[in-house]
Amino acid sequence: NQQILLVSRPKGTPKMEDFSFENISMPEPKNGQVLLKTLYLSVDPYMRGRMSDAKSYVAPFELHKPLNGGIVAEVVESRSSELEEGDIVIGNLDWARYQVADDAALRKIDPSVAPISTNLGILGMPGLTAYFGLLDIGKPQPGETVVVSGAAGAVGSAVGQIAKIKGTRVVGIAGTDEKVNYLKNELGFDEVINYKTCGNIKEALEKACPDGIDVYFENVGGEISDAVFTMLNKYARIPLCGQISLYNEENPDKGPRIQGYILKSSAILQGFIVSNYAEHFAEGAQELGKWVQEGKLKYEENIVEGFDHTIDAFLGLFTGANLGKQLVKVADP
Ligand code: NDP
Repeated sequence: NQQILLVSRPKGTPKMEDFSFENISMPEPKNGQVLLKTLYLSVDPYMRGRMSDAKSYVAPFELHKPLNGGIVAEVVESRSSELEEGDIVIGNLDWARYQVADDAALRKIDPSVAPISTNLGILGMPGLTAYFGLLDIGKPQPGETVVVSGAAGAVGSAVGQIAKIKGTRVVGIAGTDEKVNYLKNELGFDEVINYKTCGNIKEALEKACPDGIDVYFENVGGEISDAVFTMLNKYARIPLCGQISLYNEENPDKGPRIQGYILKSSAILQGFIVSNYAEHFAEGAQELGKWVQEGKLKYEENIVEGFDHTIDAFLGLFTGANLGKQLVKVADP
């Protein structure tokens, strides 16, 4: 058995030396507990924030303790009356090949509904983030222009498609031509800008958004959002979901101050954390599942094979290695 520890708080971009793979013994479940085998492990951008000790909405990871996050696992031994051997469950669990957990901390998954990995992606946390952030804060109206950054990622690709379902014109911003082609040709985005090759992002946005911007779903921050803010229409809405371009910055530059643009456009900017919507998750997951079944909502998973590659998979989020949801496949059921 093995687990991954955080051994130093990263400065800038995390390095392999900030983590350590530790061999551990096989734990034994007590009453009310199960022994779990990790099948799929989710790596997510927010985990970078937890590696630092700055105050945030979730406690920092502790040094010399295992990292943790969303995991789909199989029950391989049960001392619980709720779960039996062979059950597939999801929970916030340690980055370990095997671990014990209280049954109350786990949710059983029905593998007949959709591939079990989707519980970490389109039907799980990232899908719900797109759903509630866009619909509750973005409030897209037919005919409006919606811009989404980080457009080819787990959250962004869902945001753009849900915005299309709601009858808007969707403009994505992403970092490779492969992603641009996928978003336009497979997902039906109206325009997609490659922010790495477009030259001037503001000019590219002006061309792609001749009627201005009504909703900006913000995933990346930095220069991209500086450019978007100059183009907001009256009463624009901005769900502030993430700012990945800043997560590894020791001294983020300030960029143009955005308040003036918010004032001039009477826009509403609202940050949110998906857990704000926890009591509505079942409803959101049902709607997302329906769209997936109807073929209106497509998804990709970028699956790295092997627990040994977990850190590579995590770091790939910051270089744009992933199209769709980044997962690590640790074992077969
Ligand atoms: P993604 O699947 O979108 O992966 C991250 C992507 O970000 C990369 O593929 C890369 O794509 C892009 N990226 C990386 N660095 C930069 C950069 N410097 N500038 C522009 N783009 C960059 O991850 P998620 O979908 O899981 O998360 C997307 C955002 O949503 C993140 O900011 C995350 O923190 C946030 N989030 C917020 C939640 C909340 O509750 N508020 C919940 C879940 C996610 P590319 O090739 O295009 O550069």
